[in-house]
Amino acid sequence: MITKQCDKCNKTLEFSDSYAGRRVECPDCGDVNLMPGAPAGAAGDRAQAAGLPPDSGPEKEVMVLAPANWRAHPFLMIFTLGIGTLILWFRNLGNRLYITNKRTILRSGFFSKSTTEVMHDHVRNVQVEQSFLNRIFNVGTIGISSSGQDGVEIVAHSVPRPMQVKKTIDLYRPM
Ligand SMILES: [Zn+2]
Repeated sequence: MITKQCDKCNKTLEFSDSYAGRRVECPDCGDVNLMPGAPAGAAGDRAQAAGLPPDSGPEKEVMVLAPANWRAHPFLMIFTLGIGTLILWFRNLGNRLYITNKRTILRSGFFSKSTTEVMHDHVRNVQVEQSFLNRIFNVGTIGISSSGQDGVEIVAHSVPRPMQVKKTIDLYRPM
């Protein structure tokens, strides 16, 4: 419940929480009052303001990231004459990190598939881990922890543009 004194007649206005940030009419004098608080869907507005799909409406892909094996392990190529890179590429084949306007989905494995997903509304923290070399090549490890009842954790390695990924998720999650 949100309460506010009417701007004109001083009567106490009582409205349910869903009226936060919305305009209401005073039942006594008819004056239009703005109820305090942030309107529902404010997180979506932040994404929309940044030119991304809003979190309301149909689910849309915002980013799809394949592991940047070479950039995450630049010396492996040289020291193993390319064989290590090839093994890594094969092992990470089929790994994808999808970010939609509703959630983050990590699909791993080509032969045995596994999928982990976290709704943006449940994201508690997004961490980026980068070594010095990772920063030069703009790759890193992303860890997403959720506060949902399942407490899912997503850890994605060799993610290209990790800071941009974090920024994108931060636009959708409650902050
Ligand atoms: Zn009034």
